[in-house]
Amino acid sequence: RLEIRALTRSFGGRPVVNNVSLTIAPGQVTCLLGPSGCGKSTTLRMIAGVETPDSGEILIDGVPVFGAGRTLPPEARGVGLMFQDFALFPHLTVARNVAFGLQGDRDSRMKRVSELLEKVNLSGYGDKHPHQLSGGEQQRVALARALAPRPRLMLMDEPFSGLDNRLRDGIRDTTLEVLKEEGAAVLLVTHEPDEALRMADEIALMRGGHIVQRGSPYNVYNSPVDKAAAAFFSDIN
Ligand code: ATP
Ligand code: MG
Repeated sequence: RLEIRALTRSFGGRPVVNNVSLTIAPGQVTCLLGPSGCGKSTTLRMIAGVETPDSGEILIDGVPVFGAGRTLPPEARGVGLMFQDFALFPHLTVARNVAFGLQGDRDSRMKRVSELLEKVNLSGYGDKHPHQLSGGEQQRVALARALAPRPRLMLMDEPFSGLDNRLRDGIRDTTLEVLKEEGAAVLLVTHEPDEALRMADEIALMRGGHIVQRGSPYNVYNSPVDKAAAAFFSDIN
């Protein structure tokens, strides 16, 4: 479960994330959707712990990871990360990439790795190296790697934008299926309305550093909060 309260961050005196609050329950996918430059990645980076807020609070499963005088480092936050440039470790096999963040004895690590490779339809790929895989296959390895340590929260920033259109729909579906099985809370950042409509349980529409509307894909699409929101959804395909 993710809770952020009144999160704010300025660069050069200009607030790029302005008083943003959001809650995501376990098993739920929330898409932070909005045009380029509206503050989506900055929001996600603060939650991940690689950017420091000016003010506000961030709680993960009830634990304050930022706020009340406390700042937990990224690796102590229990989050899984996936970005557009999801660089796998090129010198490690697929299995070792997925095992990278795992603790425990060898048997339990190997069990978790094969379980995840099966979920992303890459059983039998464990001994290959990343350069032997297609972009879509690499993306699925990156998903398996991010989920391996059972993060309570998955943060994904435009994870599919490096893939060609032909692959994207299938990978979105696989990703969603695996995320649902694993049951983490998911925050997925995208500037593409069709991606948010396809993947989200809830959409948080962002503009100019603010969340201007929240709701189900159905509601946000059919009852846009204003003309700009309507226009934003109107250029889909
Ligand atoms: P996109 O869809 O293009 O990825 P975004 O919504 O993710 O956009 P952000 O990356 O959060 O946007 O950036 C929001 C604004 O903050 C932009 O105007 C950006 O130039 C500015 N910004 C982000 N990081 C910094 C930084 N480290 N220093 C100065 N300005 C920054
Ligand atoms: Mg961004």
